[in-house]
Amino acid sequence: MPNALEGEIRRMIAADGPMPVARYMALCLGHERHGYYMTRDPFGGPGDFITAPEISQMFGEMIGLWVAQTWADMGAPQAFALIEPGPGRGTLMADMLAAMKVLPGCVEAARIHLVEISPALRSLQRKALGEGVTWHATMGDALDAAQGMPAIVVANEFFDALPVHQLVCVAGEWRERLVGLDDAGKLAFVADPRPSPLATLIPEALRMAEDGAIFEISPASLAAIAEVAGHVAAHGGAGLFIDYGHVQPGHGDTFQAVRQHKYADPLADPGMADLTAHVDFAALAAAAADRGAAIDGPTTQGRFLSQLGIGVRAGLLARNAPQKADDIRAALARLTDAGQMGELFKVLGIRHPELPPRPGFS
Ligand code: SAH
Repeated sequence: MPNALEGEIRRMIAADGPMPVARYMALCLGHERHGYYMTRDPFGGPGDFITAPEISQMFGEMIGLWVAQTWADMGAPQAFALIEPGPGRGTLMADMLAAMKVLPGCVEAARIHLVEISPALRSLQRKALGEGVTWHATMGDALDAAQGMPAIVVANEFFDALPVHQLVCVAGEWRERLVGLDDAGKLAFVADPRPSPLATLIPEALRMAEDGAIFEISPASLAAIAEVAGHVAAHGGAGLFIDYGHVQPGHGDTFQAVRQHKYADPLADPGMADLTAHVDFAALAAAAADRGAAIDGPTTQGRFLSQLGIGVRAGLLARNAPQKADDIRAALARLTDAGQMGELFKVLGIRHPELPPRPGFS
């Protein structure tokens, strides 16, 4: 028996033909009633996956220090927009705000804007952060609400949740990879018979490829970072984006499903698993530079957190709570070791060109 969302997707395909992977992904994650993020709290032990802010408060604290330093280097404006798209449980923002208290006036100056589609997660965010927060459905709405104030935008694992298009090379032509129905009526990948106009976005050096090669493009991510960069270049501020992905663009299929901490088939049980794709940091950086922002990195999460002093912070926490020292050391390793999150996760900074390079990127 197909689940309710699969039934709907099959009906859409029967009516309109196969749909782009990006549309399928958007439905699975964001469908009003059945979307993965719309109904549940997917994070943490019993959930489907765990993110850096949920591993340890140290992650958000380091980023809070980065925000505070950036605010100071901007000349400590009396008001700035602090924007977080995809805030999950609100843990990162709560830990950041705690650390930002090191600089008097910084928290008071922050006007907090969250970009979140999920009603379930909005209510968890309200619990974590209280009422002094404004929610928006899109990045554009949040930037509009900033009303020309400088903005600091921080996102962890946001871009990987935005829909990705896949192009597949067929006989020297790039065609959109679609989700259709096979002979048995089950969801299956098929290639569009026509070449895709998105192929112009593939870097020159990667246009020639073997049959079956895949190239991924996330226009939603490019549009979102371009909007942030445009705002920062015009009104001041900076952005910090942490996600798993690659620094060099390349061919490959990274569209994946994770359910209960295990990889799953992305076409099985739509809406029941987290769907993601690796983030193309080169494309994000180029989109931001195009709109006039200066770029820091990308660097690895391990190097970034270490430069901000997470090792020192871990030592301090462990001394204050010796009974938790092993947990703290394990969390530090999980966040920074190459074999864990330290290398797969990358950090990209963008900033107003007159702001000096941000901490964590040297
Ligand atoms: N930053 C959090 C959560 C990451 S999961 C953490 O690190 O724990 C992705 C988050 O993005 C969730 O809050 C999800 O509901 C939100 N999200 C997914 N797609 C979105 C979209 N199109 N617009 C806004 N938020 C989205």
